[in-house]
Amino acid sequence: MPYLISLDEGTTSARTVLYNERGECVAMESRPIECTYPQPGWVEQDAMQIWQAQMESARAVLDRSGIAAAALAGIGITNQRETTVVWERATGKPIAPAIVWQCRRTAEFCNQLAATHGPGITAKTGLIVDAYFSASKIRWILQNVAGSREKAAAGELLFGNVDTWLIWKLTNGAEHVTDPSNASRTMLMNIETGDWDEELLRLFDVPRSMLPRIVPSSGVVAGTAAEHLGASVPVAGIAGDQQAALFGQACFRAGLSKNTYGTGCFGLMHTGGVRPVSKNKLLATRAAQLDRPQFAVEGAIFIAGAAVQWLRDSLGLIASAGESEVIASSVADNAGTYFVPAFVGLGAPYWDSAARGTITGLTRGATRAHLVRATLESIAYQTREMMEAMEADSGAQLKELRVDGGATANNFLMQFQADILGRRIVRPADIETTALGAAYLAGLAVGVWKSTDELEAFWRIDRAFEPRMRDSERDALWDGWKTAVRKCRA
Ligand code: ADP
Repeated sequence: MPYLISLDEGTTSARTVLYNERGECVAMESRPIECTYPQPGWVEQDAMQIWQAQMESARAVLDRSGIAAAALAGIGITNQRETTVVWERATGKPIAPAIVWQCRRTAEFCNQLAATHGPGITAKTGLIVDAYFSASKIRWILQNVAGSREKAAAGELLFGNVDTWLIWKLTNGAEHVTDPSNASRTMLMNIETGDWDEELLRLFDVPRSMLPRIVPSSGVVAGTAAEHLGASVPVAGIAGDQQAALFGQACFRAGLSKNTYGTGCFGLMHTGGVRPVSKNKLLATRAAQLDRPQFAVEGAIFIAGAAVQWLRDSLGLIASAGESEVIASSVADNAGTYFVPAFVGLGAPYWDSAARGTITGLTRGATRAHLVRATLESIAYQTREMMEAMEADSGAQLKELRVDGGATANNFLMQFQADILGRRIVRPADIETTALGAAYLAGLAVGVWKSTDELEAFWRIDRAFEPRMRDSERDALWDGWKTAVRKCRA
């Protein structure tokens, strides 16, 4: 029986998941990844630690399952996107700490660039100029690490997001590649042509020789060097985490969408072979692709499950994230309380970095339960705003929303989401969709599966939540939320 593994390298941990030919998880192991915060707003990781943690989790999965690397048909790789690693071609040594996607050190440069070149860059890349994406992070490293600009010009340095870094290490430096879903988050790729863009490279001062070759998300790149896992295994799938989750949710066609409820929320709607152009501050992105280019529109909400963590860790209102469900359900309504958790500004569809967290509508009757309820409700309201923007951009009406991520365990949140969105919410049996998507991409490349039709049969529902709120109630709540958002932006 053929097996596949996914290397799922996230912001807080490196995980490896082993799948059988029915797409079922057989074993999973994870190792933590540390972040360091050398200055306010800066976020770094150690690329060598990322590599070691990833390999430890992979070897642990093989040990624990008793399955030899020789029995693996392929490896899929999925990763935290945008995080930037620069290393020496000759030695494989990173020349600086990895700059993590959350890092704001290049915000000022990006603000200036947005003022002069914003619309042009958005037209080419589908992205909003922001420190979030890789280009300004590469530029920062080349400007701040002594001697690096000369080395880069001489072709001695390589850039990669975490997918590229891991594949380079796995192949002992033989392959320097990425896929379109990751490349579309660098702000250096033209989203339509799928190639690095000369004008953007000049603007960010990045030599082309540093950049990886862009290969399809599903396809055999090369075998790993045997020493890492005990046998050579084909690297056959690559996708950024959110695009991998879209694939893992079996959203293979235009109109299908998923929302991931974790620290933040990431909603993606597949738009097929058509590049979306957002009028509502959403991002256009490349979806994972087999042969032809595929696109998606994407919205990011910065604070979702993180607001629940805040209730637990900073306010002490709940003992665990899971308890929020019981407490929120203990009251009949929010008693007029709204909480906009704009701790770091607002993401889609506002991109307002000046907004700050706000609680409105408090009366003497408000209790801990109302505040907990308002927090969970805020996740659903933010998601509705994002999904409405997606519908407006795509001109397509959402029929249902597929969900995944840690906070989807909360049944109150899922029911309220269905109610406030007025759409069916579908929670699949396997909510580890990111790793699953990468395994699907690899399995299609090596022939474990023939087509995506076969994969659709694997996607099983755990529970569907139907909207059951009266329109008048939904409209009144929505008005309350919109008022709260206005206040938080004032
Ligand atoms: P990430 O991948 O971003 O680390 P996860 O998908 O692991 O996130 O989800 C963790 C987040 O979900 C945390 O922010 C946590 O507060 C939230 N969360 C987990 N369980 C629940 C729950 N039952 N109800 C509400 N929020 C939850």
